[in-house]
Amino acid sequence: MNPFAQRLLDWYAHHGRHDLPWQRDGTPYHVWLSEIMLQQTQVATVIPYYERFVKRFPTVAELAEGDADTVLHHWSGLGYYARARNLHRAAKIVVDTHGGQFPADLELLEALPGVGRSTAGAILSSALGGRAPILDGNVKRVLARYHAVEGWPGQTAVAQRLWDLAEEYTPQESVAEYTQAIMDLGATLCTRRKPACERCPQREDCAARALGRAEDFPGRKPRREKPTRRTVFVIACTPGGGLFLERRPDSGIWGGLWCFPEVENLAQAKALCRDQLVTDVQSERNLTPLRHSFSHYHLEISPVLLTLAREPVAIRESDTLRSWSATQLPPVGLAAPVKKIWQQVAMELGNSTPGEPQQGEIPL
Ligand code: SF4
Repeated sequence: MNPFAQRLLDWYAHHGRHDLPWQRDGTPYHVWLSEIMLQQTQVATVIPYYERFVKRFPTVAELAEGDADTVLHHWSGLGYYARARNLHRAAKIVVDTHGGQFPADLELLEALPGVGRSTAGAILSSALGGRAPILDGNVKRVLARYHAVEGWPGQTAVAQRLWDLAEEYTPQESVAEYTQAIMDLGATLCTRRKPACERCPQREDCAARALGRAEDFPGRKPRREKPTRRTVFVIACTPGGGLFLERRPDSGIWGGLWCFPEVENLAQAKALCRDQLVTDVQSERNLTPLRHSFSHYHLEISPVLLTLAREPVAIRESDTLRSWSATQLPPVGLAAPVKKIWQQVAMELGNSTPGEPQQGEIPL
């Protein structure tokens, strides 16, 4: 075995993490689920989501049968919702095309929605007895530092160099342990800031450490200013304390989640109540604006609370608009700002008589 892998395995035996929930479960389904959840999210954040998800969807077959709203509901708060939609689609493919079993084949795994080369490698190596390198964020950091690979891994040449190194070091035996070990090293010692080089099994040969430049690797993504977009959320409140949400299209931001209807200004907000809910607005009030940042832009949200003159008797031109009582969060996928506004409105409604909200200025 190559010395890099051997040192890593020796270190892992004593210092690695052996009790993560998906290690305990250990099936391809559990490894796949954890890998998808971990793609943009830290282990500590993922664990409670993972536990809840597995409780509701214990097998890939049950996930495939689940309805999209319930799947997104169990993902709510983790962000990057395309992951959840892909997860659901992939589960259906595993059931329909592969008889409910994850294929022990790198190419077939990679063909599943949301499964890239690294995730496919992790599933194959960790749960299907195969051998394939992985290159998630932790592994990129370890390898980029160990060899002082300059440049941002988003560049093709840099990524290729790192994949070559990942391939070179992945051993023929104990691949599952090696895969977990290199992820653990990146997560616990070779951290983004202040790596604990003095405790690292690779410290003697690490090029970045020798240069005294560990934190310079991997190279950062070239910075670009994010644009800011503005939107108005329509919080249409019935006299009985119901709030309306609209299901977003499957593609685009918050795809498939339920959100307050979006418009550009107050006139459009009122028109929406009149045209789609077929009722006038009795009063209106601005709520505290909030800002939500996506990876590629900031969104400034101005929520406006519109109290309807009466309970809507009809909802026109939409089968994706519906109301729930404000007293509890609806059991569907909700984006973080929607949850926040919902809770704020619910608290305010709890403190005022239904149908008689406070009045305020609307400078829209
Ligand atoms: S010696 Fe430091 S920089 Fe190098 S791999 Fe270990 S923790 Fe990372």
